[in-house]
Amino acid sequence: MTQVSRRTVLNSAGFAAAGLALPADSLAATAEGDETARLLGQSRILLKRAIVLTLDPAVGDFASGDVLIENGRIARIAPNIDASPDSAFIAELPNRIIIPGFVDTHSHSYQGLLRSLLPSGVVDPDYNRDIQNNLTLHYRPEDVYAGVLITALAMIDNGTTTIVDISQIAHTPEHSDANIRALQDAGIRAVFAYSRGAPGSRYPDDLIRLRTTWFNSTDQLLTVAMATSVDPKTFEFARRIGVRSVLHIRVDSGPLLALGRAGLLRPGDEFIHCTHLTPEAWALIRDTGGRTSHSPPLEMAMGHGYPAIQDCLDHGLRPSLSSDHSATVAQDMFGIMRTAFDLQRLAILQRAMRKEQNLPPLLKPRDVLSFATIEGARCAALDSKIGTLTPGKEADLVVLRADRFDTWPRNNAYSTVASLMNPGHVEAVFIAGKAKKWRGSLVGVDAARVLGMVEQSRNEVLRRGNFTVPLLG
Ligand SMILES: [Zn+2]
Repeated sequence: MTQVSRRTVLNSAGFAAAGLALPADSLAATAEGDETARLLGQSRILLKRAIVLTLDPAVGDFASGDVLIENGRIARIAPNIDASPDSAFIAELPNRIIIPGFVDTHSHSYQGLLRSLLPSGVVDPDYNRDIQNNLTLHYRPEDVYAGVLITALAMIDNGTTTIVDISQIAHTPEHSDANIRALQDAGIRAVFAYSRGAPGSRYPDDLIRLRTTWFNSTDQLLTVAMATSVDPKTFEFARRIGVRSVLHIRVDSGPLLALGRAGLLRPGDEFIHCTHLTPEAWALIRDTGGRTSHSPPLEMAMGHGYPAIQDCLDHGLRPSLSSDHSATVAQDMFGIMRTAFDLQRLAILQRAMRKEQNLPPLLKPRDVLSFATIEGARCAALDSKIGTLTPGKEADLVVLRADRFDTWPRNNAYSTVASLMNPGHVEAVFIAGKAKKWRGSLVGVDAARVLGMVEQSRNEVLRRGNFTVPLLG
């Protein structure tokens, strides 16, 4: 493959990269650059005077609170924490809301090259024909790198600090390596779910090599799982090497029940979409310790079926949320939370109009924010590390501006975040205590270079696949 080194795209020194290259004659801009440099140079960071939604009932929420980060972890959250400017980077953040980073539990990130390419496509036949069975097959390793990189950077920009990346592009070991390297270079926390690539790939055996090459520590941002099919052999392999399974399951519960009868399901397995499952299949997922991932905007737009948020709740599980891909809808967790909120309420309120009794409760903004954070962390098997703002956990958090014309005045913080905000409100993002976005800009990213690289790869993949999409019309 063409080697794409980190240095050419992202400057590991951070703020000095071209993406944040600042005009020399601008005092304000220079001050901002200095501030980012100080932030990156400090292992103690104190974020002061924000509304803090911890999502941890034991810690509680704060109308005005300070969050102290030390060596990548949340050290303390309290109404007032003192520190001297010599020993910590201190930022006053009035009228901001701090939340845990979003966890998107299902992203085919390599498809970052294919954004808006199926403007009105449905899963079958359009997606299967054009993306699964055509364009995906034409990716070279450098195209995988470009697609995953821009998806991961966009996720961070939008407040998503963790993704479950279901690769589906593992045509060769070099393709898998490029996928993982892009996740690593973007600096996102991710579960790499190794998948079957094109016919002739080394699935699943290459997972053994990938594990020792990339995932030999549990103390890192990247962890590994295996994207299985309903073929029991794939589950047997995952069980043999002791990794979690990630499975798309939509239409037919039969094969899932067979896997259950064969004793092949394990706690921590992830089930995606779940739009047509029988009560027996839901009970099986719950009783074996599985978790589910739902992509309401994508499922509604592309014909996957009615999003199964209520089915999940009815069977005693809590759903996580995901985007799937951006060929047709946005990978934006605010929009996904809002769709889940609106859809569940519509369904329940319609039943109420029909005079049905004993209805389930309507979702509240806090519910959908928990789906997008702690339930996502549980689904990704990362809830001991992230998902809530809890002292001791790694500091994956997002700072949101609540003093905009479309959110002011502050009345209810959960509703402000889940019902009023969009990615434009994301001011700062930390992953494991490292600033990835600060004062509205990604840190250390050469934006022009990323855009150029992605466009070049997009052109090449579309040319090889003999595919065009009209810019207009
Ligand atoms: Zn998928």
